[in-house]
Amino acid sequence: MSASQLQRAADVLRRSKHLVVLTGAGMSKESGIPTFRDAFEGMWARFDPEEVATPQAFQRNPRMVWEWYEARRLQIIQAQPHAGHYALAALEAHLPQVVIVTQNIDGLHKRAGSTDVIELHGNIMQHKCFADCQGDPTLLNIAELPQDEIPPRCPHCGAYARPNVVWFNEFLPVGALERARELCLRADVILIVGTSGVVQPAASLPYLAKQYGGAFLIDINPEHNEITPMCDLFLQGTAGGILPRLAELISS
Ligand code: NAD
Ligand code: ZN
Repeated sequence: MSASQLQRAADVLRRSKHLVVLTGAGMSKESGIPTFRDAFEGMWARFDPEEVATPQAFQRNPRMVWEWYEARRLQIIQAQPHAGHYALAALEAHLPQVVIVTQNIDGLHKRAGSTDVIELHGNIMQHKCFADCQGDPTLLNIAELPQDEIPPRCPHCGAYARPNVVWFNEFLPVGALERARELCLRADVILIVGTSGVVQPAASLPYLAKQYGGAFLIDINPEHNEITPMCDLFLQGTAGGILPRLAELISS
C-alpha cells in the first residue's frame, strides 16, 4: 500500500456523510482471536464447523458444543481491543455518521468505544434459550440458572441454554440485517476490514452499497479476497497497521 493510496482513502473518508464500516474476523486477529478460514492457524483448521457451529451439532452433542463456546468465550474475555478498534471508535469525533456492521461475535468494537455497532452474528457473551420460547432471542442470564447440568436449562421451558450467536444453517437477526441493508443503501462510503467476503448474507452488503447506492468501497486486508475486485481502493495490510494511520490523517 502506498502513501498516496492511504491519503486518498483519508480524503474520501473525511468527506463522507454516511459511513458504514463492515468488519470480519480479520479485524480481531491482532487481538489474538483466530479467524475462521485461515488455513494455517484458523480455528476451522483444527475443528470442523459442522461439529460445533450448527444447531444440528448442538442437538447431537450439546455438552461438547457448549464447552467449546465457553472456552472461546473465556479466550475473548481475556482479549483486548487493539489500536485498529480504537481508531474506528475515534472516527466518530470527526465524521457525522459512523456505523459499524460486524460479523464478529466478540464485542471488541463496543469495548473500544464505538457507540453504534450492529452485530450481525450475535454476541458470544450472551446466552439464549435453544427454543427461543419467549421470542427470538430469549436471552438468559446463565449465572442465575441452576448449574447442576451442562448446558444449563431455560427456566421457562426446559430447553438447553446456548450462546447467542448465529450458527451455520440459521437466519441472521432480522432487525440487525434490515438496518444494515438500509444503511448500506444510504452510505456514501463503505470501509471493509478483515472479511473474506464468503459468508452470506453479510458478504452481499458491499454489493448492495455499490450497485444500488453508488457507495465508494475501501477494502483493508492483507490478502485479496472475494470483495477486493469490486472495491475502488484496496489498502493491503492489517487492521491494526492501517486503521490508526488512517484515523490520524483524518483527524489532522
Ligand atoms: P474469515 O475468517 O472468512 O476471513 C478473515 C479475513 O481477514 C481474510 O480475508 C483474511 O485475509 C483477513 N485478515 C487476516 N488477518 C487480518 C488482519 N490482521 N487485518 C485485517 N484483515 C485480516 O472471516 P469472516 O469474513 O469474518 O467470515 C467468517 C465468519 O467468522 C463470520 O461468520 C464471523 O461470525 C466468524 N468469526 C468471528 C470471529 C470473532 O468474533 N472475532 C472470529 C472467527 C470467526
Ligand atoms: Zn425456553
